[in-house]
Amino acid sequence: MLQVGINGYGTIGKRVADAVRAQPDMEVVGVAKTRPNFEAEGAIENGYSLYAAIEERAERFDDAGIELTGMVDEMVEQADVVVDACPSGIGAENKSLYDEHDTPALYQGGESADVGDVSFNARANFEDAVGARHVRVVSCNTTGLSRLIAPLREEYGVEKVRATLVRRGGDPAQSGRGPINDILPNPISLPSHHGPDVKTIFPDLAIDTLGLKVPATLMHMHSINVSLEAEPGAEEVRELLESQSRLFVVPEHMDIDGAGKLKEFAMDRGRPRADFWENCVWGESISMEDNDLYLFQAIHQESDVVPENVDAIRAVTNAADARESVETTNDALGISF
Ligand code: NAD
Repeated sequence: MLQVGINGYGTIGKRVADAVRAQPDMEVVGVAKTRPNFEAEGAIENGYSLYAAIEERAERFDDAGIELTGMVDEMVEQADVVVDACPSGIGAENKSLYDEHDTPALYQGGESADVGDVSFNARANFEDAVGARHVRVVSCNTTGLSRLIAPLREEYGVEKVRATLVRRGGDPAQSGRGPINDILPNPISLPSHHGPDVKTIFPDLAIDTLGLKVPATLMHMHSINVSLEAEPGAEEVRELLESQSRLFVVPEHMDIDGAGKLKEFAMDRGRPRADFWENCVWGESISMEDNDLYLFQAIHQESDVVPENVDAIRAVTNAADARESVETTNDALGISF
């Protein structure tokens, strides 16, 4: 069993912990937190060993009556791999801790690309991370774009991707984020950082991205145009996308008109935290004009990177190849839409 430590138990960290625990070949050695909030209580409630991420703050846990197993360095020492899910920039600061204990580490998309030896997406470049010491699992938006682009490149070749990303202002629990009543070009200048980030996965890809932020918390929405090197019919492209395990092509009969109904569907199906691990591509939107593909896809920012982290753990430990890992992860989580 691979022993996995999770440093940073927030939106991403708590989901990764649960996903790791669901795997047949992994165990959660513990989770580390800076403060004794509701998520720290939740970690104990869920049966995880809790470690203090900052030694000087350990007594705050005692004061709150929350029992610690130890300090974060003990967790890192015991782990075969650490998943760092700290806020942007903190992961890079933690890198020396992982090196001191000779423990390979995964970082999240909020870190700059140079934190890792490689940026990772299971569908696109699993093999590049095999045996690596520091791997960055790319952001929610880059994950969503990479999963879509990989099969299109393999099947038809891609001349150019143009993507407009309508991004949620914040996650549901991020009470301080916005806008509350506005529509922001964000960033106003082109390109947004997402295109260059996708090129950390596909270095030779031609891609331009534009970003906006809107008063929503549920999901991101991508408006996509891909100029292909071939002219397949829309139905053929749809079949290709339907064959990808982490792309859910939303069927017309479901009458799902937006992110709200997608989340409702996830809740109805008993998905934990109403998570949608797959890209949600509207079947009706898949259109071809000559060699230009157009479609809309929704991305659940809080959860699409979760199965990718699980696969990255197997890549760095060389525990499985891409196909085997993705199948195992999908089966354990119930990725089957
Ligand atoms: P979060 O704020 O919800 O969780 C981060 C957790 O780390 C918090 O519990 C915080 O208390 C804790 N923490 C802070 N400093 C720490 C330290 N020094 N040691 C250990 N723990 C510490 O953040 P998040 O949304 O989970 O984001 C984590 C990373 O994942 C970021 O790089 C982010 O860009 C990336 N990411 C976030 C999303 C998203 O939509 N939320 C999507 C994809 C990737």
